[in-house]
Amino acid sequence: MTEARVTDFYADKNDCVVGVRIRCPDRSIEHVGCETLVLATCGFGGNNEMITTLIPEMSDARYFCHEGNRGDGILWGKALGGAVGDMSAYQGLGTLAVPHQIVVPHPLLIEGGFLVNIEERRFAHELSNISGMCVPVLAQAQGLAWVVSDECLNRDSLEHSVDQRKLEEVGAIRRGNSWAALERVCNLPLGSLRRENDEIGAARAGNYADRFGRRHEGPAALKSPFCAVRVTGAIFHTQGGLLIDGNAQVIRDDRSPLPNLYAGGGVARSISGKRVTGYLPGASDFAWPSPSEP
Ligand SMILES: Cc1cc2nc3c(=O)[nH]c(=O)nc-3n(C[C@H](O)[C@H](O)[C@H](O)COP(=O)(O)OP(=O)(O)OC[C@H]3O[C@@H](n4cnc5c(N)ncnc54)[C@H](O)[C@@H]3O)c2cc1C
Repeated sequence: MTEARVTDFYADKNDCVVGVRIRCPDRSIEHVGCETLVLATCGFGGNNEMITTLIPEMSDARYFCHEGNRGDGILWGKALGGAVGDMSAYQGLGTLAVPHQIVVPHPLLIEGGFLVNIEERRFAHELSNISGMCVPVLAQAQGLAWVVSDECLNRDSLEHSVDQRKLEEVGAIRRGNSWAALERVCNLPLGSLRRENDEIGAARAGNYADRFGRRHEGPAALKSPFCAVRVTGAIFHTQGGLLIDGNAQVIRDDRSPLPNLYAGGGVARSISGKRVTGYLPGASDFAWPSPSEP
C-alpha cells in the first residue's frame, strides 16, 4: 500500500466524499469507501504544469522534494468547491550543490562565507532571505553560483551537519591553498575572489555594510585553505493550498466547510503569504486556519 497512488475520489451530490480510487504497485485498481477523507498529499512542487502557471519564476528550477507531490489533494479539494490561497508561495533555497543534489549548510554563509557567480562576482546579501535566495542565484549566468568558505568553517560544519558530511564524501568541496589555486580548481576567472574577499575585509575592518548591505563584524576573516561548492537555486515545496477552518476542515469561498473533507500539512495553505520571501524556517507544514468571515 505504501507505493499505491490515489488517482481519483468519489463524492455524492452534497459534496460528501464517499471513497477513493487507488492504483496499486501491481497496477491493480482498488476502490476504498470512507466516511471522512483527510488529505495529506502535500503541495504541487512535482507538478510542472501547475508550477509554470502559478509560480513561473521557478518553472525551470530543480524541484528538491517528493516527486509524488503533484497537487492531487489541492485539485480534488478545488473540484469539490474548496477555496485555495497563496498559491504563488513556496520555500526555495539558493544553495543546492550541483550536480550532487545536497543542501549546503547555511552556517557556512552565516559564519563568514560568501556567494559568487561564475563570473566570480558577488551579487546579493547572502543572508537577506534564506528561502528567497533561490531567485537571485537562478538569475545568474547558467543559474549557478559558488559558496566560498574556508577549511575551518567546513570542519566546524562537519561536526553538526549530515549534509556537510555527504558533501565531503562525494567530493563536492573544492579546495585551494590560495585564492588563485581555488579559482583554478573551480575553473573560475583569476583574480576576482581575492578582490571580493578584500572588499569584505575592508567592510569588516571599517565596521560598515558592504555594497549589498551586509555587515561582517561577527564572523572572522576567511583563512587558507579556502573552499568552494557549486550550487544552484531550487524549489523545496509549495506553501499555498486549500483553506481550512480551525477543525482542519476544508472550506469554500464563503467559509462554509465541506461536509467531510479535511486537510493538513503541505496540502493546506501555510503562513508564508504570497511570496518566496515569506517562508519561515520550521513552519513549512504549519496550516493556517482561516477566519470565519470571507
Ligand atoms: C530539503 C527539505 C528540507 C526541509 N526542511 C524542513 C525543516 O527544516 N523544517 C520544517 O519544518 N520543514 C522542512 N521541510 C518541509 C517539510 O518536509 C514539509 O513541510 C513536510 O514534509 C510536509 O508534510 P506533508 O505530510 O504535508 O507532506 P509530505 O511529507 O511531502 O508527504 C506527502 C506524501 O503524499 C504522497 N502523495 C501525494 N499525492 C498522492 C496520491 N495521489 N496518492 C498517494 N500518495 C500521494 C507523496 O508521495 C508523499 O509521500 C523541508 C523540505 C525539504 C524538501
